[in-house]
Amino acid sequence: MTQARRRTGLFLGAIIMVAGGIISIVGGPDDEPAWLRGQSLSEAVAALPRVQRGQGDGVQFDSAQAADFTALVTDAAAGRLAAARDRAGSLGYKIDDVVRDAGKFVVLSPRGRTGKPTVVLSVSAGRDLIAEAPHPLFERGTAQQAVALVEESGARAAIVAGAHRCAASAPSSSPGRTRVCNPEPGKGKPQPYKVSDAAHSVDTLFHTAHLVLANLWPAAVIVQFHGMSRGRRDPESPFETWFIVSSGPSSDPGTSPLSVRLRDALRRRLGSDPGLAVSCQDPQDHAQYRYRRLCGHDNVQWRAFRDALQVGFASPGSEFLHIEQRVDPILRSRDLSRILRESLEALAPDVRHPH
Ligand SMILES: [Zn+2]
Repeated sequence: MTQARRRTGLFLGAIIMVAGGIISIVGGPDDEPAWLRGQSLSEAVAALPRVQRGQGDGVQFDSAQAADFTALVTDAAAGRLAAARDRAGSLGYKIDDVVRDAGKFVVLSPRGRTGKPTVVLSVSAGRDLIAEAPHPLFERGTAQQAVALVEESGARAAIVAGAHRCAASAPSSSPGRTRVCNPEPGKGKPQPYKVSDAAHSVDTLFHTAHLVLANLWPAAVIVQFHGMSRGRRDPESPFETWFIVSSGPSSDPGTSPLSVRLRDALRRRLGSDPGLAVSCQDPQDHAQYRYRRLCGHDNVQWRAFRDALQVGFASPGSEFLHIEQRVDPILRSRDLSRILRESLEALAPDVRHPH
């Protein structure tokens, strides 16, 4: 084989049989995902190529693709990896087995910069948790938080969006408006969310993955990580708020105790100022700390979860937690991200040792 043909062969891909499974490798070793070279899953997934702000409408997909993607995630999450691998290629996905001291994982990642999400599944999950990062480019650090919940805390799965929330020019069909995608972000008139905004558009494969996993594990607590900038803090409040924890727009503490319990767990670990962590389900918090109302009212995953709860698909014990965090200091600090992760661990049900 000539050098050129060998390179072509590597580029087109090789199929290697390994211990009863099939691992598809496209490209040479340089093209291997960093998680196959030993890098932490959370850092490697966060560093994947994604469609940037204004860089096109490649996040669109048709209904046939959505049906195939539903089947792909369903098969992979249910452990039917041979069937999942059969589907992955035509959808532009690859599937990797990753073994770490903490356990075994399966990573579904898109080939190239496509706008499609990455899904990380734990083969030996210890906690009934699903982690989501819909805005990994706009809120840097949230992809690492979501994947670390699987890699280090035993959560079942993480979904990380593959496009900037402002990648596409077309508006989302979901309600709500924002200034974040304006030519001067944060200024001018609020505009409809973009179709590429994974937390505000049902027409994303991120949302498809959310529906599949939420249906597969109906008792799971779903944790969605977000970041908020310092500049938009309520200027009248004398308090710094770092975490705004929400189970949705309800202000009735009786309906969503988990966001109050997470707030309390964060306060215990943070010490000092209780206003650093607030709950949208505690009206006292808003009265006292006047934090901004970033409670995820328009979030489409939360709305889908609420609908599933109403028709009995989701278990009454499950919850959807929307967590806003100050970009600075939290998303820039591993210690503060660890405090959040430990607080979630303390609350999440342990599926290996149910009480
Ligand atoms: Zn966000």
